[in-house]
Amino acid sequence: MNESPKLNVLYVASEAAPLIKVGGLGDVAGSLPKALRKLMPDQLKGFALDVRLAIPFHAKITQKFSNLQLISSFFVPHPNGPIQARAFYTIVDDVPVYLIEGSSILTDQNVYSNDTNSDARKYIFFSLAAIELMKQINWNIDILHCNDWHTAISVYDMKLRRTQDLFFKNTKSVLSMHNLPYMGAGAESVIHDFGFSGCDCQGLPDWARHVPLPIGIYAADQLLTVSPTYSQEILTPEFGCGLQDFLESRKESVAGILNGIDQSIWNPSNDTAIHHNFDISTLENRVKNKLALQTEFGLGRDEKIPLVILISRMDQQKGIDIAINGLRQVMDQPMQIIFLGTGDPFIETSCRSLESEFPERVRAALRFDLNLSRRMYSGGDILVIPSRYEPCGLTQMIAMRYGCIPLARATGGLKDTITDQKDGEKNNGFLFENSDADSFSQTMRRALSKFDQAKIWRKLQINGMNTDFSWEKSAIEYAKIYLKLKGV
Ligand code: ADP
Repeated sequence: MNESPKLNVLYVASEAAPLIKVGGLGDVAGSLPKALRKLMPDQLKGFALDVRLAIPFHAKITQKFSNLQLISSFFVPHPNGPIQARAFYTIVDDVPVYLIEGSSILTDQNVYSNDTNSDARKYIFFSLAAIELMKQINWNIDILHCNDWHTAISVYDMKLRRTQDLFFKNTKSVLSMHNLPYMGAGAESVIHDFGFSGCDCQGLPDWARHVPLPIGIYAADQLLTVSPTYSQEILTPEFGCGLQDFLESRKESVAGILNGIDQSIWNPSNDTAIHHNFDISTLENRVKNKLALQTEFGLGRDEKIPLVILISRMDQQKGIDIAINGLRQVMDQPMQIIFLGTGDPFIETSCRSLESEFPERVRAALRFDLNLSRRMYSGGDILVIPSRYEPCGLTQMIAMRYGCIPLARATGGLKDTITDQKDGEKNNGFLFENSDADSFSQTMRRALSKFDQAKIWRKLQINGMNTDFSWEKSAIEYAKIYLKLKGV
């Protein structure tokens, strides 16, 4: 029997669940390779996809493992002398994973720091090591797929190396942009330290020629965003962060593929972190989770009062200030609110302020707590996502899967995944247009009025729970891009 020809893909990221997760990228890097590996040759023009993952061997991961298999010990070139790298191998959820270690990775306790310069030392080393490792283990990659600024230098290095090194001659590169404004500004001097003179591409603004993400954008064969709407938005001055003209010049190479969620991990019928499991046929059980949540937070136990939740990084991007001001305008309505998030101290303080203004009805849990997030998705009625921009967003999809209705700003992936209650049969949430408190509060009033209409609410829940957010659909789109780059 003929074996299917192989298509080898190295997926490179700074984080990947369940090994390490800080934000949405961790979810994506944890689930997409797994979904890609499940595709069969008949979905891939006869090819068998071999997708492997490379991430840094973060200190937090080392604590979870002992005795991993060391598969390679090698050096990453540096003008001041080569830097030692080691690679370990494991398999997670059927995905082969390379964990790359070096002194800059070992010494840092956090995945990301506030100091881009120190992150750059770690991630530029990792980016270069990931490519070198392929050569060391003699695994010929067809596609190098990198994510965000942290690994964008891999893409740039690949463009340089494949002109000089036959081993990489046919390797094509993909760069996914999960959040354009995070470009790695501050990494310029580290790029120079590693011996790169900066990119001389015409068309790239001067300020961008020494910054990791723009350099990767210049170098990548294919650019991707994580939703179709965001792929259009980044071509505009409002969302393009000064790169819109350059991106426009590369428009033919830009596409948007919606993220999915791992529906086996986010599943209210068997989620062990929630009090009462449920599915569409047992949706009435959901209210018990709400009552449990009210008890946990010392809120009045009342199934009739709408429970509004927010689960988010506390960052300017997420528009939490808009929600807080908007919520203040609707506090005349019966409503309880729980915030879960951590980040910008100023935003955290604003959540605390609302809590002290309405001590009977508002709670702020200012921390990162995965299990609590699950209890909130399973018991909250409305999840607010007031983002100023949102490349894709996962929380709206998770919420819908758990029968919690999203109320979100109509931007990026939120717009691609939520159909407003007033917009027809497939409606599964509420959208507001303008990035301001008035627009938010008007939509919140509309949502609260629908909450009282059980039939309408139940339909929204069922539509949301029935929406297919699985990775399989998106994985096929990624595979098509890989095959196109391979020239098949
Ligand atoms: P981003 O990647 O921009 O932070 P996403 O919506 O893409 O936003 O993904 C956020 C992910 O992180 C979701 O899985 C969400 O449930 C989770 N999350 C965010 N904040 C917290 C928190 N404080 N505790 C637990 N999980 C959180």
